[in-house]
Amino acid sequence: PETITVQELSNRMAERATEVIKQLMKLGVMATINQTIDADTAEVVIQELGHTIKRVTDADVEMGMLGLEGNDEVNLIPRPPVVTIMGHVDHGKTSLLDAIRSTDVVRGEAGGITQHIGAYQVNLASGNKITFLDTPGHAAFTEMRLRGATVTDVVVLVVAADDGIMEQTIEAINHAKASQVPIIVAINKVDKPDSNPDRVKQELLQHELVVEDMGGDILCIEVSAKARTGLDKLEEAILLQAELLELKANPDRSAIGTVIESKLDKGRGSIATVLVQKGTLKVGDIFVTGNESGRVRALMNERGQQVDSAGPSLPVEVLGLNGTPNAGDDFVVVESEAKAREIAAYRGHRDRELAVAAAGRGSLEQMLAKL
Ligand code: GDP
Ligand code: MG
Repeated sequence: PETITVQELSNRMAERATEVIKQLMKLGVMATINQTIDADTAEVVIQELGHTIKRVTDADVEMGMLGLEGNDEVNLIPRPPVVTIMGHVDHGKTSLLDAIRSTDVVRGEAGGITQHIGAYQVNLASGNKITFLDTPGHAAFTEMRLRGATVTDVVVLVVAADDGIMEQTIEAINHAKASQVPIIVAINKVDKPDSNPDRVKQELLQHELVVEDMGGDILCIEVSAKARTGLDKLEEAILLQAELLELKANPDRSAIGTVIESKLDKGRGSIATVLVQKGTLKVGDIFVTGNESGRVRALMNERGQQVDSAGPSLPVEVLGLNGTPNAGDDFVVVESEAKAREIAAYRGHRDRELAVAAAGRGSLEQMLAKL
């Protein structure tokens, strides 16, 4: 059961402990300053003294531990949009990602071998940047959504112009709608002689997606990943959508991000690809991710080059983890190793309690089944 000491309760209300003790006496509870009282009694005292009650949830406790409570919406500057490409199998998701990757103006000269790190940022000739999540199929996106992680700002829905809306297209539409993420439609394979973009637009109507040239507000671009046409228009559409969303983040704070994927490397240990969402992640930072903690030993971009820091919307590989987190886990920089351990332990403890509770339910069900 939840309890609180008289001292702590008075501190939180900024009232004198004697005031609290007086109220308790009225309720027939004789307590000294160091004694604990239960939550229900505390609630009555709080109301009697004219304060409002906020029963703290697990999430609140964590926010407090992580130092994330309160308003940190300061020093906001525009950040690049984070995009997930979705669509039916064989409609050209991978081809489109590759084609877009080839439009990167920085990559050309760098010539480094591209590693697969699950996300990459494209530098456009205009100076703008777009981050693409290269998740294998819908699985990662779905899993992340289940974990409550919202990393995607915009979904690009790829529909092959010669095939139209298929089962996984509908799934993707539903995912995007459920996550309240705006959709941009990329009608792909328009180079094919049997392509029929108008039919695709018609079919989209049945899913309440009304494209611009049919009087709606869904941006729709005709592309060919193979012939590499329409890519600049698609990128422009993404940037336009991003502008409407007014995507902003404070780069001058400790980093908060989400794990996109992770792996255990024989030589280098656990490695996570982290999408930084707020603040700037730096080498040497102490962090908590899922139930793990660690200190950033090195940061690497998708070309395998070491970088010193990563700001909002930039995906980086992080070395220095003590364990392997899951896709969708948060990644939060904290001020000390003690704090990191405290939070990781709290989360481990909570997960064990949840597991015990679940097991308890299981046995109750088994008991009932036997009756
Ligand atoms: P994914 O399953 O959605 O990732 O689709 P892929 O990118 O693997 O593409 C499936 C097939 O469609 C491959 O054979 C591609 O070469 C082909 N393809 C992809 N984009 C285009 C395109 O714009 N035009 C044509 N003609 N074929 C394409
Ligand atoms: Mg593919």
